Amino acid sequence: MEVFSAVLAFAWLIYVWETYLSSRQHKIYKIVKDIPKELTSVIDSGTFEKSRLYALDKSNYGFWNGLYSQIELTLILCLGGLPFLWDLSGKVLGKLGCDPGNEIVHSLMFSFLGNIFSLITDLPWKLYYTFVIEENHGFNKMTLGFFLTDMMKKTAVSEAISMPLMALIIYIVKVGGDYFFVYAWLIVFIISMVLLHVYPEYIAPLFDKYTPLPEGDLKQKIENLAKSLDYPLQKLYVVEGSKRSSHSNAYMYGFRKNKRIVLFDTLLEDYSPVTREDKEEDFKKEDISQSEDGDATGESKKKIGCNTEEVVAVLGHELGHWYYSHMVKNLVIMQFNIFFMFFMFGKLMNMHVLFSGFGFPNFQPILIRLYVVFSFLFSPFNEVMSFLMNVLSRRFEFQADEFAVNLGKKQYLKTALLKLFKDNLSFPVADWLYSTRHYSHPPLLERLRGMDDVKAKRE
Ligand code: ZN
Repeated sequence: MEVFSAVLAFAWLIYVWETYLSSRQHKIYKIVKDIPKELTSVIDSGTFEKSRLYALDKSNYGFWNGLYSQIELTLILCLGGLPFLWDLSGKVLGKLGCDPGNEIVHSLMFSFLGNIFSLITDLPWKLYYTFVIEENHGFNKMTLGFFLTDMMKKTAVSEAISMPLMALIIYIVKVGGDYFFVYAWLIVFIISMVLLHVYPEYIAPLFDKYTPLPEGDLKQKIENLAKSLDYPLQKLYVVEGSKRSSHSNAYMYGFRKNKRIVLFDTLLEDYSPVTREDKEEDFKKEDISQSEDGDATGESKKKIGCNTEEVVAVLGHELGHWYYSHMVKNLVIMQFNIFFMFFMFGKLMNMHVLFSGFGFPNFQPILIRLYVVFSFLFSPFNEVMSFLMNVLSRRFEFQADEFAVNLGKKQYLKTALLKLFKDNLSFPVADWLYSTRHYSHPPLLERLRGMDDVKAKRE
């Protein structure tokens, strides 16, 4: 019981710390009403105010959603939600004619019912976020039907992946002996490698349409850039992210000699989506100043995205990530982390006192032990880890920017960042403590300054 109370108290401590950080950032959104000096020439006051209000809305949402989740979790744990769900899944299995005594089957049912529960309790929050907040700020492009089918598809895919993995891990913990943590890690490693191949190729297309980038100036320039760096670019896709939202992005994936680059259509100013019915309407050029009044129609017709040189500069940055093997480094750290967590789980899993307070005084299912150890006992470790990973990720971003600058793309990368900043209505001012903890990318101003600091390494 003492362990249980300590775990709960610690969960609240972390919650209070995170809320304190968010409140610092919230205060910034409230009081900073003037554009930072460095940006006055590039951002107009209308855009700045819009980004401030958007940030405030998201921050308020985050506060209430966080508070709700924390209370929900506390109630579930204190009122015996876990043992209740465990019994319930046993009964459901009995009704279905399955053997509830089989721990693996029982665990799968438990997790399935638990996921359904969170799907339902999260739904109002997600609906509010998408159809009120994103909608009000002109980002949401989904219809309710699209949203719901998308959610169903996501759930089905994630269940199809997580169920067999979970069954395997429970099995390995049961029969793996003293070195089960090696096998458990190996399984996770193999499955994540397989998913890295399979996901972009077979799973992502279930959700979005990927079309090869049409022949033209942009394609030629990207291919030339890739060639000049010996980047083995095999395929170049555009994904129609504009069906869901108008936030923009680009990413790369693939192993060794088989690399692909994916650009969001919202990143490209001159790309018109193949499946969009209102093509013509959407690409009417409109002076940005005209949409200043902020009405919804002006907003949706506003030209967004980057021009060819800017997109190439963004890719110069992305290729910097590849050049410095940032993804591989992240992957290696992640694998060490998983290995360490399984190893520690092995040390803790037989300390029955850890799990009895969660409502399992006698039989302690492996899934429950995994849940308690990974989500609660590791939470201080996870907190530190996520902080360190963000520090590392920000270093990587600076490195990638530097790489692009050394390719001679400084001015275009700068204007691209500014355009993306405007298109996504990101707020350019950040509290130092909040951003240190949460930002995986350095704040805009720091990136612009960082690029100015790069001493050209090439003549
Ligand atoms: Zn980056």
